[in-house]
Amino acid sequence: MDTFNYSDERFADIQMLRYRLNGFDQLQPRQRRLIYYLSEATLSGRDITFDQFGRYNITIRKTLEAIFKYRCNTQTDNPEFQALTEYLKCLWFASGIHHHYSQDKFTPHFSAAYLKAEILALPPSSLPLAEGQTPEALFCEIEPVVFDPEVMNKRVNLADGDDLLRTSACNYYQDISQAEAEAYYNARKEADSSNPEPLSHGLNSTLRRDAKGQLTEDVWHVGGKYSAAIERIVYWLEKAIHEAEEPTKEVIRLLIQYYTTGNLADFNAYCKAWVADNDSTVDFINGFIETYGDPLGLKGSWEGLVEYVDEAGTRRTRLISDNAQWFEDHSPVDVRFKKKEARGVSARVICAAQLGGDEYPATAIGINLPNADWIRAQHGSKSITIANITDAYKRAAHGNGFWEEFAVDEPTLQLIRTYDDSCDDLHTDLHECLGHGSGQLLPGVDPDALKNYASTIEEARADLFALYYIADHRLVELGLLPDDEAYKAQYYTYMANGLMTQLVRISEGKQIEEAHMRNRALIARWCCRHSEALRLIKRDGKTFTQITDYEALRQAVARLLAEVQRIKSEGDYEAARRLVEDYAVAIDADLHHEVLERYKLLNLSPYKGFINPWLKPLRDAQGDIVDVEADYSETYTAQMLRYSHDYATL
Ligand code: ZN
Repeated sequence: MDTFNYSDERFADIQMLRYRLNGFDQLQPRQRRLIYYLSEATLSGRDITFDQFGRYNITIRKTLEAIFKYRCNTQTDNPEFQALTEYLKCLWFASGIHHHYSQDKFTPHFSAAYLKAEILALPPSSLPLAEGQTPEALFCEIEPVVFDPEVMNKRVNLADGDDLLRTSACNYYQDISQAEAEAYYNARKEADSSNPEPLSHGLNSTLRRDAKGQLTEDVWHVGGKYSAAIERIVYWLEKAIHEAEEPTKEVIRLLIQYYTTGNLADFNAYCKAWVADNDSTVDFINGFIETYGDPLGLKGSWEGLVEYVDEAGTRRTRLISDNAQWFEDHSPVDVRFKKKEARGVSARVICAAQLGGDEYPATAIGINLPNADWIRAQHGSKSITIANITDAYKRAAHGNGFWEEFAVDEPTLQLIRTYDDSCDDLHTDLHECLGHGSGQLLPGVDPDALKNYASTIEEARADLFALYYIADHRLVELGLLPDDEAYKAQYYTYMANGLMTQLVRISEGKQIEEAHMRNRALIARWCCRHSEALRLIKRDGKTFTQITDYEALRQAVARLLAEVQRIKSEGDYEAARRLVEDYAVAIDADLHHEVLERYKLLNLSPYKGFINPWLKPLRDAQGDIVDVEADYSETYTAQMLRYSHDYATL
């Protein structure tokens, strides 16, 4: 019997889970040591992410941690202390004061008076006071940020028509308007336009005004902004080099080079080497990578991931990749938008060994990198699906009553019970291995043409590709699905999610903001509008998703895939805007209320996050690290406090 403790504590709308390092004991000691050093590098950038997500995040975190540590033995019965603790847990989880998914600022349920009294009561040495700052001044600095709902109320605002920089609390631009930033980076891009290896302008810097009022970038590198954190990352990467083999050694060297110079050409060199390193058992992501946290989609949030290969799962995705050309050739998109040679789509199923930065504690289950379109076109991309994370989700979800409530009838419920686990993995594989890598831009199309709609359109493209092919008999022929019924489970859960059930993640009165959620709403609602096969029905006052003709629904998916690929290939901003604004943003208030009420009765947490295993080095008599063991006993709070202590850099 499996006695591993997958579930841990719940707070707010979060449930913490644990993931297990399957097969870790079968690795070689040297590989485990490599994982250990890379894991230290993954944890060392934590403070960067907090600072990127809001300029007061680290100060607020340190202040609340100080109060927590002083009072956790004496005030546990005090409701103010309990509310402060919950707020702190949410802040840890989101790497800041904004919800990781909705981007809305957390509402504190403790009072400003309580916070002030505690700050003044604590020894000043325990507080994150700036040079010459009094505890009183510290309180005055953070009070509006924590308590005033109008101040920094959204981390990333994507609302059509707003100045997206002035209305977003993320810390990438300091007192700069959207128009100024766009002009600044358009000029950079223009100047770089004949470069066969274009730079990811703006990816690793803060844009601010200098003393003369000119725009200038503070680049994130050794000796520049965030130097203290980056030096720690580099320190551990240098140790990792000694345990790595080629080509990973060279990849790490190039990453250190980039962290040292901050030069984006060095980042390109690193990305090319990283994407070519396909066969190493141990791999990692470490750097300024995803741009979802910037309303303009330029600045990379810091993240880390250490991983090692999951052999069985990798055989499955290799089969898909080996057939990439067949899938590209048979897709329903216009032939002009297809890749002539679908290549370089590598696919690995991996086990996460350590999560960090923007990947911790909430993490993606599939990742496809690098993000630069020209590298993807010329050198391919690397796709991973994270098997042990998916596995932990599934084990935590079994028998929780969700589909018993939301499936339209008994046959549909049976379909989900029988097939959903195998379909879910496969959908992720198709999305990551084929979806993102498929298609091409027409010559001369600006890869950033879709601007604030780019992420949603790109996710929709990958999901549609996956949905189209999961219903293809070819997958049964390849042995990836048991029979021609299986895909229906995926169609049902996907469409029900896009039309209804994902709304459980949004609070009443809000709109849909996050790119993946927008994408799911876009696809499901578009299909509902354009196909008879999919609809919402009412029964006994409850709304259900009903699919009457799965084959017809697949044809609707095909039509939308063709249109979304056209939009991407032609850079049709206006069509992207219409599609997203018409289908993917607004929420029917009555339906939203109903779904939330039904969900509330199930008493489940809509969001999950993961406690890292504590990787502990085993040393010989000389003190040298000879091996590493994984300890799963740490609690969420203990882990966060340890990280704040051991990985404090900023
Ligand atoms: Zn994706």
